[in-house]
Amino acid sequence: MCRIHTLRQTIPIKSLGHVNSYAIEPEPGGDWILVDPGYYSARSLHDLVKQARASGLRFENLRAMIATHFHVDHLSLAPLLQDLTGAPLFMDPREKDLIEKGVPDLLQPILDAYREHGMLPEEIQSILEHHPLRRLAAAYDELLKNTRIQPLEGARRLGNCILTPRHTPGHTPGHMMVELSLLPREGRGTKILLTGDHVLPHITPHVVPYDPRGDMLGRYLESLRETQRLYAGVRGLPGHREPLPDTGARASELLQHHEQRLAEARRLLEDRGPLTAYQVARMMRWRTRYSSWEDYPPPERFFAMGEALAHLIHLESRGLVSRTGGVPVKWRATPL
Ligand SMILES: [Zn+2]
Repeated sequence: MCRIHTLRQTIPIKSLGHVNSYAIEPEPGGDWILVDPGYYSARSLHDLVKQARASGLRFENLRAMIATHFHVDHLSLAPLLQDLTGAPLFMDPREKDLIEKGVPDLLQPILDAYREHGMLPEEIQSILEHHPLRRLAAAYDELLKNTRIQPLEGARRLGNCILTPRHTPGHTPGHMMVELSLLPREGRGTKILLTGDHVLPHITPHVVPYDPRGDMLGRYLESLRETQRLYAGVRGLPGHREPLPDTGARASELLQHHEQRLAEARRLLEDRGPLTAYQVARMMRWRTRYSSWEDYPPPERFFAMGEALAHLIHLESRGLVSRTGGVPVKWRATPL
């Protein structure tokens, strides 16, 4: 089996602390591929360099980079590494399209939707100022736009392994996982999955309506069901935290979690509706260390509002809630 090295970077996002990059090395001492280049900071790069060296990886042998999705903690270091090594960057074209919009145009439709769904203008302004993408806007709007990005389609052979991209939209519109399996003649059942942020241990990957007219949560649940079916008992290496002993089982837990959140959102509308998505976001119980909405830093509000809205849009697609006309939009439970 190809060797996989975990290269863990410290990142300045407190709720996460670290991001895991993974180096795939088909032959010891030979070329290697980096999955999720990581975060654009001197500290993160230094962590990556030290750990790559400790694993015997040489940067002149870096042949390619793959990003599971466009988020800052996974991707923003890619332009610098491409300048250093010339390695091409592969990712889903839908993620590339988002990057090409530029950070202001990427965030604006989401924030417009937040306003339409009842969030206060001053909160939207502070989210805009503090969003992680804004901190690295230069990396996106100047550096990434000049980076060679290619689509990754179909399976490829690497030494005695096969690398297969698995498209899992939901956490972002073009999120993908990377499956590695041994060639059939080398043995059966040896598969490992680099899950990106599609499936994480302990934390639930957030789902934000990047396209406010689409059902992002619906797409995420669909991807989770597929993961549950295809990867029961398969070990996963996630974008954050420790390895997953059973990726399919974790996907089942995440599915259950979202069913509970969907039921909770609908119950709020039954008991206290009609409500705006913003009111629902403030009333739902989020797993966070902050005790009240007033204490939430702006990025947490961005995610909570996005989650609430994504859950309501999905409930609407199931015919369980409906929205009123006018602004702000209000939601009510439809009678069963
Ligand atoms: Zn992410």
